Amino acid sequence: MRGLGQREGTPDESRDAILTTVVRASAAVEIRGLAHRYPLSGEPDGLLALDDVHMTVGDGEFVALVGPSGCGKSTLISAIAGLLEPTDGSLEVLGRAARAAGARHELGLVTQDPGLLPWRTVADNVRLTLDVTGKGSTAELLHQLLALVGMERFAAYYPGELSGGMKQRVALARALAHGPRLLLMDEPFGALDELSREEMRLELLRIWERDRVSVLFVTHAIREAVLLADRVLVMSPRPGRIVADVEVDLPRPRTSVTDETPEFRTLVARVRAALRSAT
Ligand code: ADP
Repeated sequence: MRGLGQREGTPDESRDAILTTVVRASAAVEIRGLAHRYPLSGEPDGLLALDDVHMTVGDGEFVALVGPSGCGKSTLISAIAGLLEPTDGSLEVLGRAARAAGARHELGLVTQDPGLLPWRTVADNVRLTLDVTGKGSTAELLHQLLALVGMERFAAYYPGELSGGMKQRVALARALAHGPRLLLMDEPFGALDELSREEMRLELLRIWERDRVSVLFVTHAIREAVLLADRVLVMSPRPGRIVADVEVDLPRPRTSVTDETPEFRTLVARVRAALRSAT
């Protein structure tokens, strides 16, 4: 890439080059032409899960990804998390190749399964992450993290004694423990009942509005995507590609009445129409 001082071309081209440099520098995730094919026994071509995916998540941006079941959302998250090597395309996470060792330390991942160790208390589950990431588990930091997700009174409880929503709060505390710059959330509230889900959405918004960490949030719930995100990316059925990018310009902080506004309903209708026309 040319340095800023070496740029040539017309003034417009130069301005575009500067803008591209600025956008690149501030992107948490930048994906160009990504494809992934799973090998399948008896199928010489395997299974094409993703094809020609282009997308970005800006620094500090909250992006939701919606798409029908099986369209490749989890595959995409796994590639961004560096857990899977895509077949083709380029993928940069926080300015590095996704599988680079450094990139992973700056990520937090929350999935549908909270994945807590049942024989460890709430505090010990979070402490383990702090120790593994070399953060050091001071009592104060632990307390702050549990307080952030409203679980400070349950530090001595075991996962088996918690509701689904409480377990996901602990999973969120664990994902935030090492101060990640990018939070990847793959259907994190998918296993919760509707009331806990609503509570967790508002909780996540409260935490995000405080820290503004970059978030990529996978869901198949359109209303959830619109309530939370700055932008909603819509995926086609498999092989998944991004077919629409809907900007959500609803004011923040968003609250429990945001979803009662006409603007909210218009955006939900827009995302729904994009999903329909993709299928
Ligand atoms: P989503 O998260 O949108 O439901 P996935 O990324 O889980 O979709 O899956 C996309 C497609 O890839 C699906 O058809 C799924 O069956 C297939 N798939 C996922 N994981 C594997 C795998 N390890 N091997 C083969 N096919 C897979």
